[in-house]
Amino acid sequence: MPELPEVETVCRGVAQALEGRKIVSAQIRRPDLRRPFPPDFARRLSGRTVTALSRRAKYMCWHLDDGWVVLCHLGMSGRMLVGRADDAPPGKHDHVVIETDDGGRVTFNDARRFGLMDLVAAADLERHPLLAALGPEPLDAAFTPAVLAAALAARKSPIKVTLLDQTVVAGIGNIYASEALFRAGLHPARPAAGLSGAEIGALVAAIKAVLAEAIASGGSSLREHRQPSGELGCFQHAFAVYDREGRPCPGCTCKEGIRRITQAGRSTYYCDKRQV
Ligand SMILES: [Zn+2]
Repeated sequence: MPELPEVETVCRGVAQALEGRKIVSAQIRRPDLRRPFPPDFARRLSGRTVTALSRRAKYMCWHLDDGWVVLCHLGMSGRMLVGRADDAPPGKHDHVVIETDDGGRVTFNDARRFGLMDLVAAADLERHPLLAALGPEPLDAAFTPAVLAAALAARKSPIKVTLLDQTVVAGIGNIYASEALFRAGLHPARPAAGLSGAEIGALVAAIKAVLAEAIASGGSSLREHRQPSGELGCFQHAFAVYDREGRPCPGCTCKEGIRRITQAGRSTYYCDKRQV
């Protein structure tokens, strides 16, 4: 599933195609993805100008000039493809096709259909049921060690599992939780509430650094993620630990290399020597 850096990359690519552009046609080519499209969706998009794009956690927000916002989640495998209106006709898994007044086309392709699109009034955006409970944006200045410390207090669950809880911090998934804990030198099985202030400070810095570097690399392309231009992201080549079980640990003398354990049903990768 795409995490924050992949969604941010997609959002920036789509922004180049949609921001300031008028939607001249919107085709909704099936009634639903994970959930039904909003009633009258195509008509409500047609003729609107997209004033800005933003991102919240793993959601993209297309702000329209009539005060409504298209909320979009890519699901497990959704892609946004940017092209031209006279490109080849949409294919089987191209479910939403937007054409703009400059001859551009943005296509939402989602073979597994776990994605979603909804319409919400801008004033209600933060109260949308999918967004209301989300924790802070990790790249915002407001995400500080004090904020994370408050969120971790009284949590007995392992720090790795806790970082995946979207109410603690938004947008982090399995890849970036492992990578951030490695950088911070923290063992993934440590109880979240047991981290010291200095350790939480190191973790906040590591989260911000790894996410910023991943965005600069266009995200991580493991299976489905593509930038809207069609290019692959390349941060997967910079992984220190994720998906590297048994391989050498960067800059470390440990004999075993990277280890893998399962936590809450998901793989965690770490170094047993460097992460304590
Ligand atoms: Zn090591």
